[in-house]
Amino acid sequence: KKVADRYLKREILGEGTYGVVYKAIDTKTGQTVAIKKIRLGKQKEGVNFTALREIKLLKELKDPNIIELIDAFPHKGNLHLVFEFMETDLEAVIRDPNIFLSPGDIKSYFQMTLKGLLVCHKKWVLHRDMKPNNLLIGSNGQLKLADFGLARIFGSPGRKFTHQVFARWYRAPELLFGAKQYGAGVDVWAAGCILAELLNRRPFLQGDSDIDQLGKIFQKLGTPTPSQWPDLEWLPDFVEYSSQTAQPWRKLCPTASDDALDLLSKLFTYDPKTRITVQQALEHRYFTSVPLPTDPAKLPRPA
Ligand code: ADP
Repeated sequence: KKVADRYLKREILGEGTYGVVYKAIDTKTGQTVAIKKIRLGKQKEGVNFTALREIKLLKELKDPNIIELIDAFPHKGNLHLVFEFMETDLEAVIRDPNIFLSPGDIKSYFQMTLKGLLVCHKKWVLHRDMKPNNLLIGSNGQLKLADFGLARIFGSPGRKFTHQVFARWYRAPELLFGAKQYGAGVDVWAAGCILAELLNRRPFLQGDSDIDQLGKIFQKLGTPTPSQWPDLEWLPDFVEYSSQTAQPWRKLCPTASDDALDLLSKLFTYDPKTRITVQQALEHRYFTSVPLPTDPAKLPRPA
């Protein structure tokens, strides 16, 4: 039987959506771990569905680019999830003014992001909360997808998803228009936002409300035409926006290569039905043209 005193609690790492995250030492292995303490609801059963979902999904998703769930146990009315400890995250890398990211470095970080996402999508799991601070980076430079608390198996019959799960800046237009049934494309759009943010070193589409978020999207990418997105007018929250023309990608991401800009334009396809898939994105020539992705062990990380 697992007991909590297997783990020596150290400092608090941060406060998440579901509770506090601690740094700890696994006395059994000597390994440093991160323990996510999830407050369980009042129900005597102590069954927090969100947490159970997270456990089940994580156990199925074992991959070098997905955070490993080492252990899970209830203790003093809380559910504890033990993850491998990660040194930093992509947001800290992007925000660090002392870090220079070469085109090969950006390619490497983004390729690892897509590889983790591909594993999720192959198992019919949406991440649904892709953003730089959910992309954790280990001491070997490996990037791993974290925080599947909001993920849910998609395609379950008759199930409608709640659409307000995404951090707004990374939210796909179909979610902002109230789509109840959506697919892997929402993660692809978010991935596009992350690539643009790696290139520009600042969030790409910073709306300060949902309405403003669509405004920011249209201001840069132009309002979608019916031929670009035939089903748009049928979405629950569809409203007509005054027509704007797309800005050239070259102007939106001045430092990017032609290959990077071509991939970006495909990640930011309006119609989720024609948006590039993660698999197709990984096969894009951006990843095989020079400069090649940097070896993860050689990637720059915060001091
Ligand atoms: P949120 O729910 O807000 O996305 P999390 O619950 O995932 O946040 O995590 C809260 C904080 O704990 C993170 O910002 C991060 O600093 C830290 N953290 C989470 N997981 C790990 C980990 N595996 N290794 C190191 N730090 C972590």
